[in-house]
Amino acid sequence: MLDALVVGAGPSGSRTAWNLSKAGYETALIDRVEVIGEPCQCAGLITPRTFDYLGYERPILQEMDGARLWGPKDSYLDFQASETKALVIDRPDLDRSIANRAADSGSQLLSGHTYLGHEKIDGGIKAKIKNNEGKFEIKTKLLVGSDGPLSRVAKNAGIRSSREVLTAFGADVEGYQGKESHVDLFVGSNLAPRFFGWGIPTGPNEGRIGLATTLPHRPMSFFRNYFKKGAPSKLLGGAKVVNLISGMIPFGTANPSYTDNVILTGDAAGMAKPTSGGGIYSGLISADAAFEIANKAFQKESLDSQTLSPYQGLLKQRIGGELSKGYSLRKAFLSLNDDQLSEIITMLGEPKVKKAIEKTGDLDYASLAAFSVLKAQPKFIKFAPLLLKPFI
Ligand SMILES: Cc1cc2nc3c(=O)[nH]c(=O)nc-3n(C[C@H](O)[C@H](O)[C@H](O)COP(=O)(O)OP(=O)(O)OC[C@H]3O[C@@H](n4cnc5c(N)ncnc54)[C@H](O)[C@@H]3O)c2cc1C
Repeated sequence: MLDALVVGAGPSGSRTAWNLSKAGYETALIDRVEVIGEPCQCAGLITPRTFDYLGYERPILQEMDGARLWGPKDSYLDFQASETKALVIDRPDLDRSIANRAADSGSQLLSGHTYLGHEKIDGGIKAKIKNNEGKFEIKTKLLVGSDGPLSRVAKNAGIRSSREVLTAFGADVEGYQGKESHVDLFVGSNLAPRFFGWGIPTGPNEGRIGLATTLPHRPMSFFRNYFKKGAPSKLLGGAKVVNLISGMIPFGTANPSYTDNVILTGDAAGMAKPTSGGGIYSGLISADAAFEIANKAFQKESLDSQTLSPYQGLLKQRIGGELSKGYSLRKAFLSLNDDQLSEIITMLGEPKVKKAIEKTGDLDYASLAAFSVLKAQPKFIKFAPLLLKPFI
């Protein structure tokens, strides 16, 4: 019997497997895809903090120190920070680098292996796995569900959470007229209802563009319009699509994120940030928390839900506060119509407010900027009483 079977070699699963095998646990890391990291379902934007947290760096395509915000009724803002706020990376490379570290530290890395389900057995879990040679079983003391937004592990373990799931669609394009070191953000009901669209320069005359929204809105139809009308079309004139991406972004932390002999990490546990949709940094945090709790449970020779239960508290302590502030910010954002959005964008342009955002803007901790905006311009309270809730 294995000590741990980790399902999903995205950042959170590979980090968990890496932790476990470094600590001497017999670990297998499986993923249904043949090539880890492919197909890419990510815009590849992370904070410098994420590399610090990861403990090593990978190639950086671009450094971002500014953002342009395009809103309804031609509202527009150009932010310029004095430091690098985000890095554009090669996401498949990042995924492979973490999975390789897990393998180098002793995890058995099995690509092309799909988890189908599991049942509880004495002392652990029996998981059903399929690869191109057929179906077989793996017995493990601990099953780690790092299998992304539609986690089958969570479902089979009976872990349910109320979630909002965004669908995203985007592309790598040639001919993107971005502004160097600036991310473009598109908001409003015509551009990306209930969330936002993005444009990220990856090099001269090229970039990643996309948007996320919720059903019944279809991201693909908004995406097509990006080339024809509105603010995005100003940047995309004759741009050519090189590679399409799509995916899902789940909001809502699974609570609990564990059960007997099972623990969830990353998107499977609902770690994506409700403000930006980013989930790499928070997924890594959840991976480390899961490992710490599992390590203690192994030492106690008990992996039942009672022993794993401190995981929820640790998640809350390390990232939950920011996630719940993020939900409140999201609720406030959803309560705004296009007129209000446009008015807010104009107000954000007031010099002291803009300066506050440029100073405190942080992809991982968006609540910091929200708080500084409220401090700089208390008039914002009229738009969103919900904004205050998490800070009181
Ligand atoms: C369009 C888009 C853009 C995004 N942009 C950003 C961004 O710029 N920055 C950022 O931080 N976040 C971004 N995100 C979110 C980010 O991609 C996720 O939060 C992150 O990938 C979560 O990592 P994870 O390890 O939990 O899961 P994932 O990276 O989703 O990995 C899950 C893995 O599980 C595997 N798997 C699933 N089911 C099974 C199964 N049954 N058997 C075996 N393997 C299975 C999958 O193949 C996959 O490799 C974006 C998301 C989308 C959709």
